[in-house]
Amino acid sequence: MHKGTCLCGQVQYEYTGELGPIAMCHCSQCRRAQGSAYGTNSPIEASHFRIVSGRELVKEFESRPGKKRAFCRECGSPLYSRLDSKPEALRLRIGTLTTPIAAKPSYHIFAGSAAEWYEFSDGLPRYTELEDSPLL
Ligand SMILES: [Zn+2]
Ligand SMILES: [Zn+2]
Repeated sequence: MHKGTCLCGQVQYEYTGELGPIAMCHCSQCRRAQGSAYGTNSPIEASHFRIVSGRELVKEFESRPGKKRAFCRECGSPLYSRLDSKPEALRLRIGTLTTPIAAKPSYHIFAGSAAEWYEFSDGLPRYTELEDSPLL
């Protein structure tokens, strides 16, 4: 089982499914939401994801119509995103995991939106737009 938490520790979650391929997303929304060069996300099955404490602190921000970005309203940690059109899936912000995982990131997405100060150096595939990537 995978477990994770936000920065303040009040939101705790468990995930009993498999992680999908890990993507580093350079879209401008992920960059702002993380305050960093990219978001590191894995698609997961919503039915196997459970908030075990702090549910009342999870706030969802609709960053574009039908897309919700969930974070802890106390400490601001991004937790997952979801699409109204794909209720069976979440995109987990894997930096919030507290249990170790063996998988490594698979690719970069929205590489065309990357910050000009970011240097790609890991040799992983880069997809310019989400539509090009194997994520969909
Ligand atoms: Zn928190
Ligand atoms: Zn993104």
